[in-house]
Amino acid sequence: MHEVSLVRYEEKASSVKNAIDLVKGFEGLNKDDKVLIKPNIVWGGGLMSGIPRYGFITTCQVIEEIVLALLEFGCRAENITIGEGSVVSDELKSTTTNGFKWSGMKRLGKMGVKFLDFNVKKFRTVEAEGIKMQIAEAIFDSDFVIDVPVLKTHFMTTVSLGMKNLKGCLSVPSKKRFHTSKKLKKNIAAMNVAFRDMGKPQLTVIDGIYSLECGPSPNGTASRSNLILAGKDIFSVDLIGTELMGVPVEDVEYFKDYAQMTDRTLDTSGIKVIGEKVEDHRMKYNYQVDYEEILKRKNITGLKMKDPGDTLCTGCVTKIEAAFLCYSADISDLQISKKMEICAASKIEPDEDSETVFLFGNCACRKNKELIKNPGDRNIIAVKGCTPMLTPFLHTLYKGTLPKGLFLKAFTKRVFKLMGTALKVYNEDTLKKDYNYPEFTTEHFM
Ligand code: SF4
Repeated sequence: MHEVSLVRYEEKASSVKNAIDLVKGFEGLNKDDKVLIKPNIVWGGGLMSGIPRYGFITTCQVIEEIVLALLEFGCRAENITIGEGSVVSDELKSTTTNGFKWSGMKRLGKMGVKFLDFNVKKFRTVEAEGIKMQIAEAIFDSDFVIDVPVLKTHFMTTVSLGMKNLKGCLSVPSKKRFHTSKKLKKNIAAMNVAFRDMGKPQLTVIDGIYSLECGPSPNGTASRSNLILAGKDIFSVDLIGTELMGVPVEDVEYFKDYAQMTDRTLDTSGIKVIGEKVEDHRMKYNYQVDYEEILKRKNITGLKMKDPGDTLCTGCVTKIEAAFLCYSADISDLQISKKMEICAASKIEPDEDSETVFLFGNCACRKNKELIKNPGDRNIIAVKGCTPMLTPFLHTLYKGTLPKGLFLKAFTKRVFKLMGTALKVYNEDTLKKDYNYPEFTTEHFM
């Protein structure tokens, strides 16, 4: 029977170590082992460092407590590496290295632990279930891998927990192919078969100090949850994490695929939960994202965007959501007169009655190439790139949707905000007001 611990997180109370000890999480670990910790730092800070980190990325607090537990066990700090492959954007200065700083984890360097940016290191090609993928060489080089995702639901994959977090170990081309092949969920399941065949990760610890509904990005709603889950079997930990969020495990396609590929079951009655009871902490999380809702919060109507599904890569998701965040931070109370639509990803076509259409990214442009050639009386704006640059897109979006006077004022202000952020003289905390309560503390990321 697989065991999963569920522990209430309390400050300075060794909660993370307790969660690990309850499932004998370090069983099989040797003091001389090379340990790799894989947090979830999907975004690399940079110019968008103002976006909230709660439930979006793993807290530095939990990683520090894992490192302390490893040192107490007898591991040497120089044998412990924190590895990640964040979204790369030259324009927005998002890199894994910046992500380590943004998450606060860079501070752990003082303890002697090392940091590794998968994106700039070697990958090894493996095949599982007929699917080829490039996995960071560091996974193969490590003796003991600890997967530390955040507790969140995800609009493309229903939940993003331990199994999904391993996607951060892939090369950028593999990550993109996972989406563009139009079988993201099967690919995630196959990737987990590849990891299982390696016997990794040996331990999964879900950071639920904060949780995020309708993630993966900060457009979702974060809550202070104060929960930690741990277990040696990643699939069991993910199933219990999903039940904890009130999401039926059957709604997670890659769980079903993985169960089929590995002869496992989605039935959680065979999993022993140690510690707190799931029923006492069950949430009721949704996982669908309504992009228009972000604008409606600022009383902006007339611009629509259909759910792009799972063929949209994280890089494009991040840019679109950054654009929505900038737009709703700069503009309010606007009724856009023409019918406008943003289309992204390789399977979305605009509605017949949309008068102005922004085709965001090479995939959307390819899908709608006939429309670009023969637009008729519609205004078709192709925003090319893989991923497209944010600032030119903002220019196009502001210009296309705003009256001239407002466009000049809003876009000029936006450019100054971005420049101020780049020069570190301005810090745009776009959604900070939503989390202006004592239970949300930036200390968990310092
Ligand atoms: S354009 Fe966007 S969705 Fe298409 S492959 Fe590039 S990053 Fe992925």
